[in-house]
Formats: sequence, structure tokens, C-alpha cells
Amino acid sequence: MNDIVAAALRRPIQELPDELVSQIAAGEVVERPASVVRELVDNALDAGARQVTVRLTAGGIRNILVEDDGGGIPPQELPLALRRHATSKIRSLEELEGVSTMGFRGEALAAIASVSEMSVLSRTADATHAHRLDARTGELAPGARAVGTSVEVRELFFSTPARRKFLKAPATELAHAMDAVRRHALARPDVGFAVWHDGKLVEQWRRGDHEQRLADVLGPDFVTASRPLDRQVGPLRVLGRVGLPEAARARTDHQYVYVNGRFVKDKLIAHALRSAYEDVLHGHKQPAFVLFLDIDPTRVDVNVHPAKVEVRFRDSGEVYQAVRRAVEHTLATPGAQADTRWTG
Ligand code: ADP
Ligand code: MG
Repeated sequence: MNDIVAAALRRPIQELPDELVSQIAAGEVVERPASVVRELVDNALDAGARQVTVRLTAGGIRNILVEDDGGGIPPQELPLALRRHATSKIRSLEELEGVSTMGFRGEALAAIASVSEMSVLSRTADATHAHRLDARTGELAPGARAVGTSVEVRELFFSTPARRKFLKAPATELAHAMDAVRRHALARPDVGFAVWHDGKLVEQWRRGDHEQRLADVLGPDFVTASRPLDRQVGPLRVLGRVGLPEAARARTDHQYVYVNGRFVKDKLIAHALRSAYEDVLHGHKQPAFVLFLDIDPTRVDVNVHPAKVEVRFRDSGEVYQAVRRAVEHTLATPGAQADTRWTG
């Protein structure tokens, strides 16, 4: 292309309208119904919920409803909750560096609202009744529910047919959404979870301890064929359960790693685990494990990825060695010492 043509084609720089900015940002956060479920359950847990109920229709493509009994949102803040970069969770860079809530970017509700028909019904403890905000019309009206919040998301990607086409069959979307709930459920046995699909209860996990929740979510066989561990190695506490070779599976579906309570997919940790299992696991079998890594929040950056599934460690070599040694040691030592949280 010559310079004259290029100059003629060039249009002046403009700021994008708010709605379009949200839709672009939504691309990073909202990929499918399961991403909506993940974000809404994150919010319920951040609000101190003891019980979270997820109701899906057609794998969540038609409808996603997440109900919690957390602290709720005051009516005057409801419109703000849907604004981009609006959050009650951090106030400063300092707070970002020590963040302990699942959310902090103030993006999820705005992103979801920009690619669906969303409404939020919420009630705080000091309110006499609930309020419902319709994201599209902005209408705020009185509503009814107990203290807590219900977020309803209808017709995901209705305004972006190209993205809607990427969604799979309802059964597949349901399976992904179940994965998202399972990840939360394993980390939070102190919270009850229920999932309904097309009006039927498909999964229910009652509040209990870690051992009970592991058996409920991964099956009692995993508990029998795994060993508890709890080791402090340098700045890192590694705790959880590692599956013995007999718990290995054809797929990687029983591999859960959390950093400070947040489910992550981290290449470094995955590699440390592979090498820890190298001597005990042969062939193409995949180990099963549920590991919680606790580290001073200033030593890990969770603000690497909009969906926060990636993290960056300040001392990655140290973390690698700690995970590898802790797991190797547990696999090699029958009856390795464990924390009471894990032995039940
Ligand atoms: P973030 O979680 O990063 O703060 P979100 O867009 O997910 O951003 O939510 C915006 C705000 O709305 C939150 O900071 C919180 O104050 C409020 N909020 C969202 N969901 C809930 C909920 N289920 N219960 C109570 N407050 C909520
Ligand atoms: Mg959030």
C-alpha cells in the first residue's frame, strides 16, 4: 500500500464507547457459561456466603442464576457494582499487593452484563427488603429475598452471535460449569454448594471438613488411595492430599492446585509435580492430587491474567523445589505426618 492510499484510509483516533470497552474486556474474562459461574461464585465467597446455589438452564447458555447468603449489596451501590473497575475489595496499590479476596479488579459484573441480559437482586442485613437492578435498563425496583445476593444471567452472548456460536452443546457447557463449582467446593468445605440443572438437583455438597468434602467431590476411593501432607518449606506451606500410584487416572481431571485459596493452572507447579511423581508413576497415567500452597501474598502476583488462573512467584525456584520435595517425601514415606485438618 502506498503512502497516499494509507493516509486516505486512516481514520482519526477516538476513544471507544464504554459499552464496547466492556465487551472487549469481557472477551478475556467470559469465555463460556463456566466462566460466569466462576466469577459469580467468587463474588459469593468474597461476600462471606455459607451456602451457594447455582441454577443452570441448557448448560447455562439460556440462564445462569447464582444465589448466596452473603452480606449483600446496599441498594445505592447496586449501579456501581456493575460499573467497570468498581470494587469494594481494594483501595490502593498496597492493598492490591496483599489481596486476599478472590476478586479485586471490579470487572466481572460489568463484563458479564455487557454480553448478556443480567439482573442483580440483593439485600443487606439492615435493609427491610431487597432491591433488583436490571443491568440493561438500569431500573432499580424493590424485590423480595432473604439477606444475600442473586445474580441472574440470561442469554449469554445474545448480542455477539459470533461468540455464541463457539459454545458447545448444553451437556458440555454443563460439564465445564460443574468443573468450576468443583474447584471452589474443594477449597471451601465450610461452604455448602448445590447445583441445579434444568430444574433438577444434580449435585449437592454439604458443609463439613476437608476430608468429607474430598470424599464427596472426588469420591471415597481418592481419599483411601492418597496421603495427606502438610509441610512448611521456606516461605511456602504445602498442604493437601497426594494420590498414590493406584489413584492415577487416564486423564488429568483429578489435579487441583490452589495458591492462597485460588485455583490456578501453573506450568511451574505442574512441572514440579511431574518430577515428584517421576519415580513412582510409569506409562501415561496422570497423578491425582489436591494441593493448597499458602505463601505470603506479597511473594506472589495474582494480577497476571484477567481470569486469575495464572500467577507469578517472586521466588519461583524456591516454590518449585518446595512443592517437589514435599510431594516426593509424602509419596516415599508411609504414614507421613499430617495436619489434623487433613486426617479428620
Ligand atoms: P470484584 O469482585 O473484582 O470486586 P465484580 O465486578 O465481580 O468485581 O463485583 C463488583 C462489586 O460488587 C464487588 O466488589 C462487591 O462489592 C459487589 N458484589 C458482587 N457480587 C456480590 C455478591 N454476590 N455479594 C455481595 N457483593 C457483591
Ligand atoms: Mg468478582
